[in-house]
Amino acid sequence: MIRKLISRVFGSKKAVASHHEPAVIPVSRHGITRDRISAGSRRVCEGLQQQGHKAYVVGGAVRDLLIGAEPKDFDIATDATPDEIRRAFRRSRAIGRRFQIVHVMMGQETMEVTTFRGMLDANTKTDEHGRVLHDNVFGSQADDAARRDFTANALYYDPATEAIIDYHHGVGDLKQKTLRMIGEPRARYREDPVRMLRAVRLAAKLGLIIDPAASKPIREMAELLENVPPARLFDEMLKLLTSGHSVNCITRLRDEGLHHGLLPLLDVILEQPMGEKFVMLALANTDDRVRAGKGISPGFLFATLLWHEVLAHWEKLKAAGETKIPALYQAMDTVLDVQGEKLAITRRIAGDIKDIWSLQPRFESRAGKRPYGLLEHPRFRAGYDFLLLRAESGEVEADLGDWWTRFQNADGEGRAQMLLPEQAGDRKRRRRRRNPAAPGVDRNSTQ
Ligand code: ATP
Ligand code: MG
Repeated sequence: MIRKLISRVFGSKKAVASHHEPAVIPVSRHGITRDRISAGSRRVCEGLQQQGHKAYVVGGAVRDLLIGAEPKDFDIATDATPDEIRRAFRRSRAIGRRFQIVHVMMGQETMEVTTFRGMLDANTKTDEHGRVLHDNVFGSQADDAARRDFTANALYYDPATEAIIDYHHGVGDLKQKTLRMIGEPRARYREDPVRMLRAVRLAAKLGLIIDPAASKPIREMAELLENVPPARLFDEMLKLLTSGHSVNCITRLRDEGLHHGLLPLLDVILEQPMGEKFVMLALANTDDRVRAGKGISPGFLFATLLWHEVLAHWEKLKAAGETKIPALYQAMDTVLDVQGEKLAITRRIAGDIKDIWSLQPRFESRAGKRPYGLLEHPRFRAGYDFLLLRAESGEVEADLGDWWTRFQNADGEGRAQMLLPEQAGDRKRRRRRRNPAAPGVDRNSTQ
């Protein structure tokens, strides 16, 4: 009852039909001059407009410029068909099967150019929960605006006139720091449950409040995410984790009730008390890197997220009498088998993850030639960064991380002096390594 009331008060006001007149907001009111738009996207719009088409910068870029954030990329929407777009630009190619998008290359830039999408109707194919499976109908600009998720994402910027075309009061909503759903939030979440995650991510990233009408239904509709293909969830999770605001995103997902039993990775992150400190440190670290414009590797990120799972399995195997290193490999395989499938982790990323994990025990040897060998390992840097996080979270002694920092920085003489005396156990371990077919280990076993 209350929910209905709320959605009537907050929701239906904006649930406008797609064919009303948009507001045309001049540059004198919004302040975004055309030099703020990338050169490539300006040229693409110009090129299409010269051939008599409509063409606008749309979506995240306009939104980000309005709130003073740096746009990640510039997407373009047009009434030209994919064929017409391709003919207009020599360096272009169509991608996507479901809905053709054309990538247009200009210098170093690649612009994503899409033809206006049409409204969904009775013929639109959905699954039994109402999730839209195919949406490959073209439409008018007004239709295209109504098909977008949030009002702030449905703004069209025309580089020729520097005006913003606003069908759904997006500029006003942004001024009020509100992320508002276009149309009826429940219906829009049913069409595409990933919008729930997008709401949380965009609000966290941009410092916006999710309009109550859009945030209210999330808790009860959260389970719809179970029907979303894993690869799509994985993409969205990756965006979330690499947004530069992952700590904030994760905290908000938890507040919105989106973390439980839905995304296996989130369960892993949030429901392992031991690992929470480590994971939050790792994410804060990732956020810092992203904000400083440094690259991050998905392998490193997932290695941190799943590490405490590996530790738990590893401990179990060792307690059951398994030898240390083979037990680690077995634990790694088990975790990657379970999580890899759900998360659609690619083979290459899985390889990177294993590299980082398998280096960890090698940091324990601080005697003889082994530390020198480890320094030369191509993945030393990633393994070392990972070790520092483990030390910072208290999982291993801080001294171990410090030792490796000093060892790297020391000269030849200094390094030699740092080495610890060889212990009897070291030699035994080395012998065992020479004989990898240690008894009782089945690398292919999943348990
Ligand atoms: P980001 O800053 O992460 O790029 P974005 O809003 O630009 O955010 P994109 O995935 O690049 O996100 O999508 C571009 C635009 O496409 C959005 O601004 C929105 O208008 C539209 N869009 C994207 N995903 C959806 C969706 N699930 N439902 C409706 N519209 C969407
Ligand atoms: Mg974008």
